[in-house]
Amino acid sequence: MQLVHMTEKINYDIIPVTYCRRCHSLRIIAGNGYPDYCEDCGSTDLGDELIDEWLAEEEEIKKDKKIYGRNY
Ligand SMILES: [Zn+2]
Repeated sequence: MQLVHMTEKINYDIIPVTYCRRCHSLRIIAGNGYPDYCEDCGSTDLGDELIDEWLAEEEEIKKDKKIYGRNY
């Protein structure tokens, strides 16, 4: 493992996040003795990915919502 200089900027793009596969929420509750679950929809179907990937997907979802919002 390489030592990172304290002065080096932290690259937030490489931080992994846990998200809900069902509703794409990041509000995940780590249960005590229970499996981690999504606070928004209660799903335990969670995934891990990098924050920039999550943000890209979130943009796609927002775009879709805008498009569908016009039609319905
Ligand atoms: Zn959810």
